[in-house]
Amino acid sequence: MIGRFAPSPSGRMHLGNVFSAMAAWLCVRKEKGTMLLRIEDLDPARCKEEYALQLKDDLRWLGLNWDEEQTPQSQRDKVYREVFESLWERNLVYPCYCSRDALHGASAPHASDGTVIYAGTCRNLTEQERALQTKAPAYRLSVPDETWGFTDLLQGKYEENLQKECGDFIIRRADGVAAYQLAVVVDDMAGGVSQVVRGRDLLTSTPRQKYLYSLLGGTAPEYLHVPLLTDESGRRLSKRDGDLDLGELRKSHSAEEILGTLAYSWGILEHFEKISAEELVGEFSLQKVKKENIAIRNFLV
Ligand SMILES: [Zn+2]
Repeated sequence: MIGRFAPSPSGRMHLGNVFSAMAAWLCVRKEKGTMLLRIEDLDPARCKEEYALQLKDDLRWLGLNWDEEQTPQSQRDKVYREVFESLWERNLVYPCYCSRDALHGASAPHASDGTVIYAGTCRNLTEQERALQTKAPAYRLSVPDETWGFTDLLQGKYEENLQKECGDFIIRRADGVAAYQLAVVVDDMAGGVSQVVRGRDLLTSTPRQKYLYSLLGGTAPEYLHVPLLTDESGRRLSKRDGDLDLGELRKSHSAEEILGTLAYSWGILEHFEKISAEELVGEFSLQKVKKENIAIRNFLV
């Protein structure tokens, strides 16, 4: 079994990232599998080398180790382009010239993850119409009118109709950078990843990714989508909550305290106790844990 950490170095890890990383690590170590680390630094405007170094330091400090490191995404553009070209040659991809405003019009339907369901405006442009465009296009994958689903190891059955609930999605951005959906599938295939553990916000990306696997001839991994951490009002914790990033948390809490808090909140431990990552492996079982989002703010402040 091969699992992975796939953090994006766009800032310091916060508690939600720690939780996802802990969950992924426990699933791998419980099965005596192999843990990969992949730095997802596709976006040159947001990602920094210093954040990547800090991420690795934070993971080590938490005791969440890894066995191999994959090439960072920023260095894999050639591979993504080759895959893109292969899809292009199969007529599965088309250029989209729509402006942001056109895409986000008031009447635009939204997918359950908040993204706009693309109306297909540019799908059937003729060569002539394309030649008249002045804007650099993004490239979209044509999706079929089919329902794709899977059984999540924690959340259960999930499916969506690709055309109606997701729409043709971008696999290469207008700035030439590979889109997340493409890069993640190409990299997981390259690493032989057989289990993906990540936040529940990515549940709705999964049918799209499974479809990409099928086009690229790969076997999709098992998926486990962990709950999101929220504050008392149910709002998801984010990088805005600076007091819950590891830079702050490391000043006044030990790794054992943070892991114990997360493990207790998720249901691995019956009572709060300080516990190391290694010790948690023995306590962890999927039968114990909750699938609903977790309000956490009270615990560490
Ligand atoms: Zn378009």
